[in-house]
Amino acid sequence: MSGPAVAGAAGPDRGFETRAIHAGQQPDPATGAVVPPVSLSTTFAQQGVARHRGWEYARSANPTRAALEACLASLEGARHGLAFASGLAAEDAVLRQLEPGAGVALGGDAYGGTFRLIDKVYGAAGHPWTAVDLTDPAGLARSWPDGTAVVWAETPTNPAMAIVDIAAVAAVAHAHGALLVVDNTFATPYLQQPLALGADVVVHSTTKYLGGHSDVVGGFVALDDDELAARLTFTQNAVGSVPGPLDCYLVQRGVKTLAVRMDRHCDNARAVVEALVGHPAVERVLWPGLPEHPGHDVAKRQMRDFGGMVSFVARGGEEAAVAFCERTEVFTLAESLGAVESLVEHPARMTHASAAGSALEVPSGLVRLSVGIETVADLVGDVRQALAGL
Ligand code: PLP
Repeated sequence: MSGPAVAGAAGPDRGFETRAIHAGQQPDPATGAVVPPVSLSTTFAQQGVARHRGWEYARSANPTRAALEACLASLEGARHGLAFASGLAAEDAVLRQLEPGAGVALGGDAYGGTFRLIDKVYGAAGHPWTAVDLTDPAGLARSWPDGTAVVWAETPTNPAMAIVDIAAVAAVAHAHGALLVVDNTFATPYLQQPLALGADVVVHSTTKYLGGHSDVVGGFVALDDDELAARLTFTQNAVGSVPGPLDCYLVQRGVKTLAVRMDRHCDNARAVVEALVGHPAVERVLWPGLPEHPGHDVAKRQMRDFGGMVSFVARGGEEAAVAFCERTEVFTLAESLGAVESLVEHPARMTHASAAGSALEVPSGLVRLSVGIETVADLVGDVRQALAGL
């Protein structure tokens, strides 16, 4: 075993799964430990005043966080990666780079917390924002909101599962001198690579598929631009919204199985969708793998597979949607998504309650499923029994 040989195992020419396991993960040079020790120290001994080995104080940088940042940057195909204490902390670090008065164009469907941050925090601080239909890049070009410096897109969106053509929206944003930020939480870098499609910045809630086990909250930013990366690194240290080393370790551990988990999430979601489509209690199924989904062709082009998130509109409206959420037995009624266990929720009353009364309000009959990797027959059976008699 030697350091350089293992570093070679994680080079950019290696496959996704290899990099997920090896990037940033060289065995400990002191002991050979294959899993590098979690670096809990908050401070690092210096050889002389301001002479050190690259580590000074753990908020600024620490080895466990650096390992995670190297790994996730590699998976997104990015030159730079920065880990944060939560997805919203990552988003906040990006939005802090707005010039005074600069505006944000936010897709018409997005996580409620992102809406809250852009509307209630940045809007209140003098950054105007506009809800735009990012599924229509030509329409965006025609009615470009003046003063927009950042276009903020999720794809697939949370919770309506709309698909944004990243390359087309990037072209419109760039023509107006704006940046395109893509929240890649639902797809993960295994299914979709926004930077390669023209996005400028990728953000993640690592709380979801990257961590993958519902036991850690975290966020991540990936980008290529050196100057913007330097400003984000400054913000990360100056503001201090950093993840602790144990949290970084948990995300890193989750990422090692991302590819196999995502394959199973996608397969199980396909089976759950089959059970939902055409059921008399279901008005509409929202999953980009369905040929009738308006974003199907774009999703086929820009994603490896269609993901593990599935939403549907209950024919019986809010009452039926709530009843479904309360009837499932294998799907746990809970917020969040992207972990091994299946979850169900009612976005209008739960994750997206903060968007009530806004342009991003969620239909009350909508149910969101995060399809996990349990035995597929159990998941399909659970959905069928919860739908029965709605
Ligand atoms: N982006 C998306 C798409 C999300 O679903 C969430 C949380 O649900 C976030 C960002 C925020 O991440 P966090 O909860 O880690 O702050």
